[in-house]
Order: sequence, then structure tokens, then C-alpha cells
Amino acid sequence: MWKHERRIPLCPRLLGDASFLELLLEIDRETAAKVRAGRCPLCGGPLHVGHFCRKPRGFLGPVPAEFDLRFDFCCGWCRKRCLPPSIRFLGRRVYLGVVVTLATALHHGVTSWRARVLRRHLGMARVTLERWREWWQAQLPSSEFWNRVRGKLPPRLRVDRLPGSLLAVFTGILGQRLVALLRLLGPVTSGSCPAELFEGPVISRRGR
Ligand SMILES: [Zn+2]
Repeated sequence: MWKHERRIPLCPRLLGDASFLELLLEIDRETAAKVRAGRCPLCGGPLHVGHFCRKPRGFLGPVPAEFDLRFDFCCGWCRKRCLPPSIRFLGRRVYLGVVVTLATALHHGVTSWRARVLRRHLGMARVTLERWREWWQAQLPSSEFWNRVRGKLPPRLRVDRLPGSLLAVFTGILGQRLVALLRLLGPVTSGSCPAELFEGPVISRRGR
């Protein structure tokens, strides 16, 4: 077990922290602006705004204005969509990426009291947690994306302890490590933008 893995607290407070949620939104805004400035990756055409609303779950406090807006663009020439990577939404899951990460990291077996507390706070089904764990520990490690980033990660990183083992790779307080992890996963959240448009986080050599 990574030494920091043990220290991941049950931290629903983070999910009600307006400044943390604002930070996630701001990072997504900046990424979207960068994607738009780069124009259409297929034909170089201008990108027009095609944002849409999501109904994310996992908040334990007030939701910042525009937090539910998924930034999206559409090319004015070839009409293809260009969906920027997102730090708030992990694919199509209705729960925030932060929740999908934290809840799975805390879920060590169906009897885990921490997972039970989190489920009670957020109203998610046990089967949902099991599905997320399956994604982290089986689907993600066998993906093309994982192949690409594997070389940047510590060789001893245990995929059977994901996402806790990955959180432990980053430095800082829990919020900072979550942000770094979700930035790394950015390309997973967008199949329609070139991965190089999204700069991953700098990974400390501490965990190597
Ligand atoms: Zn185009």
C-alpha cells in the first residue's frame, strides 16, 4: 500500500466546498478556451459554442453557477463536435469525477463503513460503486490511454488499488491530488479533441 493511501480521509466536506468546486469549473473554462483557440482539429475551421447542460450528482452544498454546463464546440465548416476534456465530468457518469474517484478509493469491499457513509451522504447504489471499481481496476488499465500514460507513472503502481494508488502519486492536500489525477485523466473524458490539447499534470518523482 502506498504510504499516502492510508491517509485518504472520508471527506464529504470537499464536495460542499464552494471554492474547490469553483476551481474545477475554472480549470474546465480555461481548457475549453484553449481548445476553442486551437480551432477544429480536423479541418482548421472555427469552433462555435455548443455547450449543453448536465445534471451532475455528488454535491453536499450549493452548486456554483454554470457548474452544470458541459463545455462543447461545433466546427463551423465540417460540423464535427469538439468536446474538450473536463475535470468535473468523468465521461457520461452522472456523479462528479471527484466523487467517482473518492468513493472508489474508499471502497475496500462491500462492507466498508466508509463506503456506506459516503453512499448514505450521496445516495448512490452499491452496484454503482462496484461498477466504478471495475472501471478503475479493469477497464482503465487495459485502455489505450493507460498505455500512453503508463510510462509517466511509478512502475510499482498497483492497478488493483486504483484510484487510491494513483492519488498517492501526487503531492499536496487531497483537493490538489484529486485535481492532478483528474487532469491526468482529461483525455479519457474527450474522444473528440486531440489529447495534446490537454496538458497533463507534472508527476512528482517521489512515488517512483
Ligand atoms: Zn472542422
